[in-house]
Amino acid sequence: MRRTGSVAVVGSANLDIVLSLERRPRPGETVLGSSYSEVCGGKGANQAIAAARHGRAILVAQLGKDDAGTMLLSTLRARGVEVHRITRSSVPSGRAFIEVTPDGENSIVVMALANSTLGAARVHDALSGDVPAVVLAQLEVPLDVVIVAADWAAGTGARFVLNPSPVRALPRRLLALCDPLIVNESEAAAVLSELSELSGTAVPGTTAELAALLGRHCVSAVVTAGSRGACVAEGGVVESISGLPVAPVDTTGAGDEFAGALAAHLASGSTVVEAARLANEQAALAVATPRELR
Ligand code: ATP
Repeated sequence: MRRTGSVAVVGSANLDIVLSLERRPRPGETVLGSSYSEVCGGKGANQAIAAARHGRAILVAQLGKDDAGTMLLSTLRARGVEVHRITRSSVPSGRAFIEVTPDGENSIVVMALANSTLGAARVHDALSGDVPAVVLAQLEVPLDVVIVAADWAAGTGARFVLNPSPVRALPRRLLALCDPLIVNESEAAAVLSELSELSGTAVPGTTAELAALLGRHCVSAVVTAGSRGACVAEGGVVESISGLPVAPVDTTGAGDEFAGALAAHLASGSTVVEAARLANEQAALAVATPRELR
């Protein structure tokens, strides 16, 4: 039987610099922006905040000793995330530059900065000190750190959950430790292409088919499908979870909301299917709520 307890999120924290523009500049051109804001972001921080809504969440991350790091730390603390495993160094805190145009399209440039200095040995020590029930990671920190987190979980009986975003080629050994791997449909197709399960030109298939294929490589897999909900593959069985009919206000961060909530429910003792059902409800609620009110 798996233990219950906290979620340790091993991941990134960024200062999101959000710029509103009438239109994107062409190469060599300068345009004036119309609004500016700075908010807490990074997949690790976002998923830790989502997990903290439903249980104990500890963020293992690296920030700079700059004003951005101080702002991120106080925001995370205020949102209920345990921050005692966050360390700070002379490398500046990570930044994401997000350009938003009136058509609602985002263009994003991420600078990893301090996130790229999160060290494997420190992550191992942090996990060993807190002994979480669930370790949740993404790919905005170095891959060797994610592998150390997965190996630590495997060696201690904790559950390892991976949201491989931004998506990249993953060692099969890492995939085999994921319980679950959480991906959206395009990430699912990219991971399967790397595994040569889909040819470059093949029709990717339905959400359930993607989940079933991924489920062969992981302990369990969850494929999210926006307003259509999600599919869970575990032990050769695929379960479909219908999307909730909500009026979306802002779908930004729906995937992070889903991953954080799912990890928190797993840490409380839910099965993957139960946790995915609850995460589907909480992510639907999030997209129906303006971001600043979540
Ligand atoms: P993002 O990159 O915007 O964070 P994503 O592509 O990683 O999102 P999605 O599959 O779009 O992830 O959404 C994750 C989950 O959020 C879905 O499985 C669903 O539970 C919920 N969700 C997203 N959009 C909607 C919607 N329009 N209506 C209801 N639920 C939604």
